[in-house]
Amino acid sequence: MAAIFAFTCSCCDQVHEGSPSFGFAEPAPYTRLTQEEQSRMAELSDDLCVIHHPEGTQYFVRAILEVPIHGVEEPFLWGVWVSASASSFQRYLDSYDQPQQDKVFFGWLSNHIGLYPTTQSRPADVWIQDDGTRPRVRLHRSDDGVDTDALVIDQHEGISIARAQELAERALHG
Ligand SMILES: [Zn+2]
Repeated sequence: MAAIFAFTCSCCDQVHEGSPSFGFAEPAPYTRLTQEEQSRMAELSDDLCVIHHPEGTQYFVRAILEVPIHGVEEPFLWGVWVSASASSFQRYLDSYDQPQQDKVFFGWLSNHIGLYPTTQSRPADVWIQDDGTRPRVRLHRSDDGVDTDALVIDQHEGISIARAQELAERALHG
């Protein structure tokens, strides 16, 4: 197994080294707020986001969605946000101080990844990590066992080095 993913980019001719990693600084529902709403209703840090709506509060957690690359140790990484219920959010905060018995909570993927367009919401299991790293997202497979969402398929089945390179080039250079 190659420890390091590296390729010569067909867009810029540079060698890009290390497993590709692309992240979002905020969940999409935060991005959709006006600046005035962001400062009045919302709190955002590197890892947490809370939006206070009159009808209720939304909680989001920054997490990592891993897509395995065949033959390479390190996966392709997407830094994404997931929603959390109030109690899951609290349990995640508590995990900063002590390991939680119940390490998994349900969340909705809360970013739109341009390389993986979809019109559907993406449900996921979110796994809290004991080592203090960001939680890992495991997308749900479809109930009928026939996945059509390329992101779900890529995460569960892994991608070839060639596909990883193609995705990385498109993510890097549009
Ligand atoms: Zn490049």
